Amino acid sequence: MLIDHVSDLEASSSQPSSPPPAAGTVRIAGPKPPPTFGQWVNVTAILLIHVGTVIALMRGVTWKLVALAVASYVVRMFAITAGYHRYFSHRSYKTSRAFQLFLGFLGTTAVQKGPLWWASTHRVHHRFSDTERDVHSPLQRGFWYSHMGWWLGREHEHTDLEKVPDFAAYPELRWLDRNHIVGPAVLIAGLWLAGGYDAFLWGFVVSTCALMHGTFTINSLAHVIGRRRYATTDTSRNNFVLALITLGEGWHNNHHHYMNSANQGFFWWEIDISYYVLRALESVSLIWDVRRPPAQVLRRNLLSEVGERAPLLLKPKKQKTREFSSPVPTPAPHVTQHTAS
Ligand SMILES: [Zn+2]
Ligand SMILES: [Zn+2]
Repeated sequence: MLIDHVSDLEASSSQPSSPPPAAGTVRIAGPKPPPTFGQWVNVTAILLIHVGTVIALMRGVTWKLVALAVASYVVRMFAITAGYHRYFSHRSYKTSRAFQLFLGFLGTTAVQKGPLWWASTHRVHHRFSDTERDVHSPLQRGFWYSHMGWWLGREHEHTDLEKVPDFAAYPELRWLDRNHIVGPAVLIAGLWLAGGYDAFLWGFVVSTCALMHGTFTINSLAHVIGRRRYATTDTSRNNFVLALITLGEGWHNNHHHYMNSANQGFFWWEIDISYYVLRALESVSLIWDVRRPPAQVLRRNLLSEVGERAPLLLKPKKQKTREFSSPVPTPAPHVTQHTAS
């Protein structure tokens, strides 16, 4: 088991430049190190996005500005779900090197860091779902941590390229990942030049605020609210509302059941707008080898047949009451010490 001693080490060391722990390590309680420059930047940016959204609403709104915000939201949500998630994290289809770079660049405009960072942390989520090594489990660390806190955390600040060797092999993607701020800067400049201050406010600020919270609901709510079809060992759920606002990501229990599928809605009534667009891209040969769940996978491990398997959702079995109480007192429950060894 990987153990994160960084907090303890830094508390007793004069070298503040110790590398942050890799995503997926277990934290041991210790004195908190001061926030890094990057953390301050992220916190300030999120505050400004929210303050800017209030300013935009106070300045008044037109249908044109709402349409601009919605268009910016939909395009960038697609870049996150179909690009960062289904392509860079799960390789659920293939494409050319040029279109891969385009998807990566479009994803950076969503202000969710670079494609390699996003994919590396997401792969940790699948590997350790709902265990203490998960990067954002609401059942382990609560709603706000899984919604935004983990994203701002020190331990998830840097990209772990070892988790994404397949895409880290491309120098242009490594550059994009390091310089992910270029995408938002280009978008802001374009909006301001085309439509001025209000276009910037609605096309970037308001839209990004909605986009962040929309995406983050999959980390915070899609493991808490909804129905479970498959007996995955995590607590993932299918949620129609989340699927609508995230263009298909709300079918999260389906996704944990078969994560390499390009479609997360497995049946016709499970609306999955990102997948519809991917099918269109497939029809014009921009993408190919699109992966879909085989028929036997759809029928395998149904919760209705095999029962619940998520440890955090299994109710503890009731102790059978003894007819006669033992004269020997039951020992107190043993408290396990969490040691570093
Ligand atoms: Zn999940
Ligand atoms: Zn995933």
